[in-house]
Amino acid sequence: MIGVTENLALIKDLLASAAKAAGREPGTVKLLGVSKKQPLSKILAAADAGLVDFGENFVQEGVDKIDQTRDRNLTWHFIGHLQNNKTRVVAEYFDWVHTIDNLKTARRLSEQRPGALAPLNICLQVNVDNEAAKSGIDFDHLQELATAVCELPNLTLRGLMCLPMQRDRLDEQRKPFVRLRQMAESLRSFGIETDTLSMGMSGDYQAAILEGATIVRIGTALFGERK
Ligand SMILES: *Cc1c(COP(=O)(O)O)cnc(C)c1O
Repeated sequence: MIGVTENLALIKDLLASAAKAAGREPGTVKLLGVSKKQPLSKILAAADAGLVDFGENFVQEGVDKIDQTRDRNLTWHFIGHLQNNKTRVVAEYFDWVHTIDNLKTARRLSEQRPGALAPLNICLQVNVDNEAAKSGIDFDHLQELATAVCELPNLTLRGLMCLPMQRDRLDEQRKPFVRLRQMAESLRSFGIETDTLSMGMSGDYQAAILEGATIVRIGTALFGERK
């Protein structure tokens, strides 16, 4: 079985190639290792090999892992669905939240962010395929939410995130990522500057990088199948 260290080296190469194919500097694409349902040993192996950013979907699991890696100076991203009764612990433990789609949750995070910590980095999750059952804000309400989040003192709006439907072909995969990039451009025309497009996973990161992803969220390709 190939280990995390080898996978990490391979994925870094693949991300760099994808960036070059897109005419971008490899350093402009950050690898976020999605470690949900993966054992601590794999996180430590990736951290030993130089990975800094880790993503978790479940609050308690993430908090336990953060507590167990305090000595490592890792950056933790919450990428799961966030219920309002769990905002406090997320505000206290994580560095980023990628899945904000309503103002109430954002307000709670800002109020609960400890003053001793830097502002919490926020991405707004957009429902790029307009799927009825999926989280994320729709384009019509995005500007209003972005404006309101910018006013919250203990949050920093960094950008947009999406989790599109699974598609197999590269040209099809690119379409939702184009839409997310255009939404960020449209926010810019309203004076809201962001620097992050959190898009692309194990199966579609190439398409995402072609369309400007600055954070790709990679789970299985890095850590193997989840338990
Ligand atoms: C699980 C998950 C990922 C990683 O998915 P892989 O296909 O394993 O790379 C990325 N983003 C989110 C929001 C996830 O929930």
